Amino acid sequence: DVQLVWLRSDLRIHDNTALAAAAAKGPVIAVFLRSVAQWQSHDHGANKIDFWARGVAAIKDALNGLNIPLLHRDIDHYREAPKALLDIAHEYSVKQLHFNYQYPLNEQQRDNAVLGAFKEAGITAHGYHDSVAFAPGTLLTGKGDYYGVFTPFSKAWHKQIRAEQLALRNTPEPQQRLSIKSDTLPGLPRLDDTPVDHQEWPAGAEIAGDYLARFLRFRGRHYRQQRDLPSVRGTSELSPYLALGMISYRQCMQAVMSENSGHLADGDAGLTTWVNELIWREFYQHVAVGFPEVCRHQPFQEHTLKLAWRDDREGFNAWCEGRTGYPLVDAAMRQLVATGWMHNRLRMVAAMFLSKHLLIDWRRGEAFFMRHLVDGEFCANNGGWQWAASTGTDSAPYFRIFNPTTQSKRFDPDGEFIAHWLPELGKLPAKARHAPPHDMLTQLDYPEPIVDHKAARQRALDAFKALSK
Ligand code: FAD
Repeated sequence: DVQLVWLRSDLRIHDNTALAAAAAKGPVIAVFLRSVAQWQSHDHGANKIDFWARGVAAIKDALNGLNIPLLHRDIDHYREAPKALLDIAHEYSVKQLHFNYQYPLNEQQRDNAVLGAFKEAGITAHGYHDSVAFAPGTLLTGKGDYYGVFTPFSKAWHKQIRAEQLALRNTPEPQQRLSIKSDTLPGLPRLDDTPVDHQEWPAGAEIAGDYLARFLRFRGRHYRQQRDLPSVRGTSELSPYLALGMISYRQCMQAVMSENSGHLADGDAGLTTWVNELIWREFYQHVAVGFPEVCRHQPFQEHTLKLAWRDDREGFNAWCEGRTGYPLVDAAMRQLVATGWMHNRLRMVAAMFLSKHLLIDWRRGEAFFMRHLVDGEFCANNGGWQWAASTGTDSAPYFRIFNPTTQSKRFDPDGEFIAHWLPELGKLPAKARHAPPHDMLTQLDYPEPIVDHKAARQRALDAFKALSK
């Protein structure tokens, strides 16, 4: 009774709900459908696509150790998924299909089309909720609505979580060798950019496990104090691995509990804070299902649809290239382009700078981030951008506009992060790096601030106020 497992953003053999369920039923074959054109239409860039490919290679090896063959098919668009999977099902006399759900709208539509096509063909297909503790729609407000604010969501999450939701799924035992061979994996498709050096983000579940262990051993207990300091490696850097499922949130939660006397929410403050970040991740996945308009390029706060965003090509390019004249913003953007990753504090600062100081449509920033991030994940990226632009769930109130210079003094007090990414400012004394003296800019080859903070802030406030008129 051959079972087919369709792998997507769940590239691991341990604690994989669909894989565990399939292996409990019969011999397993796995398949990965590469959909480059679709991914590119979602703005995934070279870094993510390359990391994905390396992740597939890593799981192929791991599956090989279990005698599970991995098939690989190229489809351009999701709409081709039902046929590609049915072809495999017929060719190998598959009894059942198994996969773990993904929650953004296009992925949901694709999965529904697959479920429908399999039903029609008379083959059982199962979707599993694997990347969240609560299936979207099962953690709701008292009124039965999806949460649009994080804190009550998180409280309800902690209150209702049960041990079995966090229990690790079985890793399959090696099965009898099948006569089906794994496919040779294709090389990278033609991409617009060159991906970052593979050393930056080695792929695979084993490395992800090492990152988790390293984080808990050296950083976890200091997380609360250090998580906002971009010059310190104070966070887990697990986001690319979580985004492609090379590690699961359950594995993270279990590891926290074993460090923290069995607790998630009390005990060590650093670990508790970190658990909350994982709950943010789940929150935004629920939001994508509960408020699907966010998946259609719409703001969560409908009234902000009318906001008069500026069409400022020069400003946008300066932001993308790290030449805004605000050192922390520029250092952040250079980190993103060079490494495919940006520190969370800086994602907030850079996103707010684009959407408030430059008053440029957050969707342009969202797409630019996506094109560069190795951890690019629709729900978190969209949620983060809408938060910063004050158009989203649980947004920063529109009048809260970070002053990038104050943020810089507070979170990079010695200007270390700035000096690393903007070596031209490294010659300045630490205190001067936050706002280089005007008369030294030419000599430093560093641009003037492209906007004045106060004036830009006022312009943003006026634009938001105009919405209520
Ligand atoms: P840690 O601090 O170690 O946190 C652990 C994990 O929790 C992360 O790996 C991530 O999976 C999750 N997490 C942490 N913060 C958030 C958050 N605010 N929202 C959702 N999940 C969170 N995260 C992505 O994974 N992909 C994205 O595309 C993405 N885009 C973002 C865009 C903006 C504008 C903002 C403000 C945030 C974005 N984030 C995104 C969230 C966050 O910045 C990153 O998850 C974090 O910086 C990753 O570093 P880390 O793994 O060291 O995080």
